[in-house]
Amino acid sequence: MNKRKYKKRNNFTNKINPSRFINRATQSGNECQHEVKNTFSDFNIDQRLKRNIINLGYEEPTPIQDKIIPDVLRGCDAVGIADTGTGKTAAFLLPMVNKILKNRSEKVLIITPTRELALQINLDFKKFSKGLSVFSVCCVGGSSIREQISELSRNHNVIIGTPGRLKDLINRKTINPSIFNNVILDEADRMLDMGFIVDIRFIINKTSRKRQTLLFSATMSKRVEVMINEFTEKPAKVFLKKRDTSENVEQDIVKVKRGEEKIDILHSLLIAEEFTKVLIFGRTKVGVEKISKELISRGLQATSIHGNKTNSQRQKALKLFQENKIKILVATDVAARGLNLNKVTHVINYDTPATYEDYIHRIGRTGRLNQKGVALTFVS
Ligand code: ADP
Ligand code: MG
Repeated sequence: MNKRKYKKRNNFTNKINPSRFINRATQSGNECQHEVKNTFSDFNIDQRLKRNIINLGYEEPTPIQDKIIPDVLRGCDAVGIADTGTGKTAAFLLPMVNKILKNRSEKVLIITPTRELALQINLDFKKFSKGLSVFSVCCVGGSSIREQISELSRNHNVIIGTPGRLKDLINRKTINPSIFNNVILDEADRMLDMGFIVDIRFIINKTSRKRQTLLFSATMSKRVEVMINEFTEKPAKVFLKKRDTSENVEQDIVKVKRGEEKIDILHSLLIAEEFTKVLIFGRTKVGVEKISKELISRGLQATSIHGNKTNSQRQKALKLFQENKIKILVATDVAARGLNLNKVTHVINYDTPATYEDYIHRIGRTGRLNQKGVALTFVS
């Protein structure tokens, strides 16, 4: 039995050639490769929204914002593929807030693969729409549906949610999908591989036929193409990737030799001075919990996030990590998509990711927006 288990795991790790986990960060920031042509004041958007952008400290658009915002403002469908951490959220939120300011009957539905990402986008939305009386409701699984139903009964233009909960609320007739004339799919490729596609189809096919659809991802794949073809019409396409992974992330492998324990190697890394904020990915919920407990028992400050925890436990873990109260977060791939974690210095793939796309997203939690980061992947 042990033997079979070992073999299975070995097969798993052999899927991706380890050489793909080694990559130098490039010297230049993203801005240098894609010359930014617009300033925020060039965009044809509401002055009040511009003021909120300035108050957030955004000086100029990032390349994806620069390229795609004009198309979105024109009302076209659009597809934005750009590195992790390059400001894709604002690329869709800013034009949507603007659209609502112009016409209060606009309805926006934002669909994300994970609860944490929906909550984060909701927070970003609140920042951009501060003081503008534009309201959003976050509808994610694992949280009180009663509360969401109550919030949905109040004035709102935007819903941000995960597919299962959105479908549930549509079935209960709490959400009327047909009034949504703007649909955004963030982390689009993830929606397919988590088996969400059935729910997504169910939802999108019920939204308004005359709608603007936007699709964002850090990875382009056949599956994203499927979604583009199915859900968008003559979209403007903005592809800003020169290579698969974020250019800001220095990537290397950590070889685990026969007789060595991974957890010991991990421990020795974590006590090094430069590992100030570390996100560790494990493959399973149980495995992640085990790593976290082991690190704690060795006197390190760690916490964990995975699907066996409640939403409030998951949010608490994220908050402690975000606020630098705990320097080590051990996670399953629930934390791999879209999360904008503050200044993570290292991502460690304790277990090899299932696919190379997962790898790209995992390591994209570091090296965000002109910062540098390091990604290390254990290989045996
Ligand atoms: P992505 O979705 O591409 O992974 P995010 O939208 O999460 O990236 O943005 C990454 C970070 O960059 C966030 O902290 C966000 O506030 C910040 N950011 C986005 N646009 C700008 C900008 N124009 N100027 C400065 N910071 C920005
Ligand atoms: Mg994002």
